[in-house]
Amino acid sequence: MDMEDQWDVITKEELLQIQEEMEKSPDKGLAKINEYLEKQNNTPLNIAITGESGSGKSTFINAFRGINDSDEGAAPTGPVETTVVVESYPHPNHPNVTLWDLPGVGTPNFPADEYLEKVGFERFDFFIIIAAFRFKENDVKLALEIKRMGKKFYFLRSKIDSDISNEERRKKNFNRQKTLDDIRENCIQGLRDQGIDDPQVFLVSSFELHQFDFHLLEETLERELPAHKRNAFLYALPNISKEIIKKKKEAYQAQIKYHAAVSSVGAAVPVPGLSTAVDLALVVGVVTQYVNGFGLDKESLERLSVSSGVPYSELVSVMTSKLGGTTITPELIKKVLSQLALEAVLMVAEEVSRFFLFIGIPVAMCLSGYATSRILNFFLDQVAEDAQRVFEKAVEKNSEV
Ligand code: GDP
Repeated sequence: MDMEDQWDVITKEELLQIQEEMEKSPDKGLAKINEYLEKQNNTPLNIAITGESGSGKSTFINAFRGINDSDEGAAPTGPVETTVVVESYPHPNHPNVTLWDLPGVGTPNFPADEYLEKVGFERFDFFIIIAAFRFKENDVKLALEIKRMGKKFYFLRSKIDSDISNEERRKKNFNRQKTLDDIRENCIQGLRDQGIDDPQVFLVSSFELHQFDFHLLEETLERELPAHKRNAFLYALPNISKEIIKKKKEAYQAQIKYHAAVSSVGAAVPVPGLSTAVDLALVVGVVTQYVNGFGLDKESLERLSVSSGVPYSELVSVMTSKLGGTTITPELIKKVLSQLALEAVLMVAEEVSRFFLFIGIPVAMCLSGYATSRILNFFLDQVAEDAQRVFEKAVEKNSEV
């Protein structure tokens, strides 16, 4: 992605605005910086989840958001018809990302021909159509209708963990891969027979997102989403694989140069001590984004502890940065930084300097930007490594069962 593509992150005008506010008063400048950080988290992403009652929509919605069925804000799950209206479920750490639980097509309130109008299809970025066994006529009708409206849809075959354990129990010469291939092929063939030319079917267990096809669904969505929605999607993904953690890290990394640019604007205002205050406020804000984005905040860890069965204290004990499970304060940041070697922090990042020249910030103003960039990279590394350790700890327990 070249720099022009990312101008929605921060524009030259915004940088000048921050500088202007900063010159009026440091508080105003800091408020502007916070506004900028918030804006980054505001790209809306609306994911529609539809399918027959009992197909596993609510359970998937909760699993995707890292929420347990018993948590506050959980989508109600159960064997009976639970969805009769369109319900929205925002992601707890990324409220710009919302999963929508839509009633099945063909329920009395939602006849197939009026369905999309009734649920307000325009707001959705894409549709996931869930079935626990076969995709039926109503699923197909809906898919064709979604296509006609110019939106994308994906088929998710749920509860695949029970198919696998049933087959394992039933068959002497059980072959896991063959069972999965057969189920996938069956679904695809069934959909083709009903008029969907090239269906994309993913086999998923909401109890074990890190297994089966969830990663393929993730990769497909990432590829097919418009560029400006991709980061919102990535940040909201559950940390269920090394690859996802790596991608999140890269997405955050690509933004550091913009944070550094903001910091260098602060440094250009000749108020003693201001530049450090700006940098500190900025670093606190961005590191908080990292911690929340990687689900290492206290609430996310508590939920993970419930769903994984790993005690909270054990999840916390594998983290080495001391940034997880706590509020990020200026004091905490200062404490961590005081333990760092200064040369490492001030090492010039080539990418940052090129970017500054590109947007026309004089080199003399860049030192604060370099430092901020190094510092943020350092914190990002720490948080991403902790996320990986926590993920390993959580699945280690799961795979023992
Ligand atoms: P909804 O009506 O489509 O929202 O379906 P729910 O999410 O309430 O799920 C219906 C039932 O299927 C519940 O008892 C869930 O626990 C169960 N279920 C949902 N997803 C899975 C899954 O991935 N694996 C298994 N084994 N059961 C699931």
